[in-house]
Amino acid sequence: MAVPFAKTSKARKNKRRTHFKLVVPGMVKCEQCGELKISHRVCKVCGTYKSREIIKQ
Ligand SMILES: [Zn+2]
Repeated sequence: MAVPFAKTSKARKNKRRTHFKLVVPGMVKCEQCGELKISHRVCKVCGTYKSREIIKQ
């Protein structure tokens, strides 16, 4: 097994982890029902995308 040559300092470890965060997906309002939805995705509430019904209810 490969063993690291030098100890990773707390600063270096923390700097590496700055890229390591929770991402909130881009949320927009649905133009059909006004509910928050993920952009470029079918609305979960009313089942429409670009004002067309995709999911029949
Ligand atoms: Zn909707």
